Amino acid sequence: MDDADRSDSKIASAVEEGIGRIRRSAALLYTGECYFCEEKLSEPKRFCDAFCRDDWDARQKAKRLRGG
Ligand SMILES: [Zn+2]
Repeated sequence: MDDADRSDSKIASAVEEGIGRIRRSAALLYTGECYFCEEKLSEPKRFCDAFCRDDWDARQKAKRLRGG
């Protein structure tokens, strides 16, 4: 493996990480309301701020852990 191969695989994993992040947020359709607190929002926001997003994210993870 030469230097070019190494940097290519580094780029590939960064791209995959970015795609995963986009897929996760793209799965949330714009509803006009914050997913967490249901506050009215203008497009394309799904959450009022990072706190709502983090709380919602934590709640989703907890749901998955409980199997529902
Ligand atoms: Zn909110």
